[in-house]
Amino acid sequence: MPSVDELLAVIDGYKDEMIEALKELIRIPAIGPENGGDGEFERARYLRELVEHCGFEEIELFDALDERVRLRLRPNIVARKRGTSDQTAWIVTHMDTVPPGDLDSWSYPPFSPRVVDGKLYGLGAEDNGQALIASLFAAKAINSFGLSGEKTMGLALVADEECGNEKGIKFLIREGVFRSGDLIYVPDYGVPDGSVIEVAEKSLLWLKITVEGIQAHASSPGKGINAMKVGSKFMTFLLDHLTEKYGKLNDLFIPPNSTFEPTKRLQTVGNINTIPAEDVFYFDFRVLPE
Ligand SMILES: [Zn+2]
Repeated sequence: MPSVDELLAVIDGYKDEMIEALKELIRIPAIGPENGGDGEFERARYLRELVEHCGFEEIELFDALDERVRLRLRPNIVARKRGTSDQTAWIVTHMDTVPPGDLDSWSYPPFSPRVVDGKLYGLGAEDNGQALIASLFAAKAINSFGLSGEKTMGLALVADEECGNEKGIKFLIREGVFRSGDLIYVPDYGVPDGSVIEVAEKSLLWLKITVEGIQAHASSPGKGINAMKVGSKFMTFLLDHLTEKYGKLNDLFIPPNSTFEPTKRLQTVGNINTIPAEDVFYFDFRVLPE
């Protein structure tokens, strides 16, 4: 049995290899269909090989059907190193990223990773790339000593985000991958000194509101119904109402309150002198369990 120092020395020796692995990961886009991407298939192909390279012999692929992506499947990778008991200690990481957004706002190109002043820049380098690569190489170090403990060591690399997603973590739960009594660690949050462990997340609700009015020329508002005016009133009403109704605080969460944010609003008319017949906007709500 190696000491912790010996184990850490082996992990230190992986540094260059880990940086290269994370760079390769970033070069392969993995954007979900709700953001116009084709999912994680190509990235999962690379990661499947990397999991094997890290000393796992028991690797299972769980493909969830998803008509929205080109190859119609969303991949999930499950790797295990058996212990003597049935209980598994899992590390769950996710393979996807959000889209890069406005490319001009990037200091370095999102899909061409580079190390600057000891930091690796690229889309998803932090969420969830570094945690995913770290979990793989931690396992590699353990496997390199041929260690197996009482608990089975399990890695789950899931499609989509780390919680609440039908094609990723929920799919694996339905497939019976996780059992009652398993220990599950999801390294998707952190602070630089590693002193905080997140134990809960708020529930997420995305809401799209469409308001229908009647189009008219802006000089004759009486002939129409301005959907944007109605939408704006409704938005303010809803936000005030929700903030008051769900106003409790819980210090387990950061920030400690539920949040209700209007985020995206579609352009419905192209010119300034038309009263819009439609107003379309979106909310991102993060709600405490209370
Ligand atoms: Zn994440």
